[in-house]
Amino acid sequence: MLRRASSLSVFFSAAKPSLLNQVAYGLSFLEAFSTTVLKPTEAGILSKARTPTINFVLGGPGVGKGTQCARIAETYGFTHLSVGDLLRKEISSNTEYGEMILETITKGKIVSSEVTVKLLKSAIESAETDRFLIDGFPRSEENRVAYEEIIGIEPEVVLFFDCDEVEMINRVLHRNQGRIDDNIDTTKQRLKVFEAYTLPVIKYYSEKGKLYKINAIGTEDEIFERVRPIFAT
Ligand code: AMP
Repeated sequence: MLRRASSLSVFFSAAKPSLLNQVAYGLSFLEAFSTTVLKPTEAGILSKARTPTINFVLGGPGVGKGTQCARIAETYGFTHLSVGDLLRKEISSNTEYGEMILETITKGKIVSSEVTVKLLKSAIESAETDRFLIDGFPRSEENRVAYEEIIGIEPEVVLFFDCDEVEMINRVLHRNQGRIDDNIDTTKQRLKVFEAYTLPVIKYYSEKGKLYKINAIGTEDEIFERVRPIFAT
């Protein structure tokens, strides 16, 4: 059965009381975690013949977004674009942004929307397909606004993989992928960023009736079975 999360209930069930206070700090608090606050100056139009279908996938560090995205993409024919992977590719290719991205990721902060939206736009444009699963985006309201101004395609589905913090930390510390940000200090910082900046995005899409909250505790197969009805229509 397809079950959309009801507006505010998802946000408030996911958020802790202390978190709600943190969110109230607003944009000035964002600057403490983000490299720059973007003010998009020009709105671009995607150079694709057909308007793509966009789905977003959100969740805290170690929640298993990447694993589930790979399965969803393979089963339902999406191109999986992980913004984290796009950023890591910039680091390994030593591009003009590489050094800044490495420093930002190492600190567990959010890379500026100017860079992430640009990378995302170019990845969408250069893909041969028109159906996308965008993993780890939008990570903040700033990301979301920049996406709307620069790409502007309304997502059909926003998946939110939900899991408690202790489990997320445990998974990150045991996944052995050799990632520079998979250590306890950076993971704690990433969790703070998730709570302060990504939960407001989750609330936004919940209020728009686009959010599907998935319990991310269980085996890979069990979690995928929870996701399946959303795309199987
Ligand atoms: P992930 O692979 O999704 O866990 O992302 C790893 C790191 O990449 C994050 O901690 C951020 O530093 C950076 N990152 C990933 N996605 C975004 C995004 N949408 N906006 C800004 N920074 C991002």
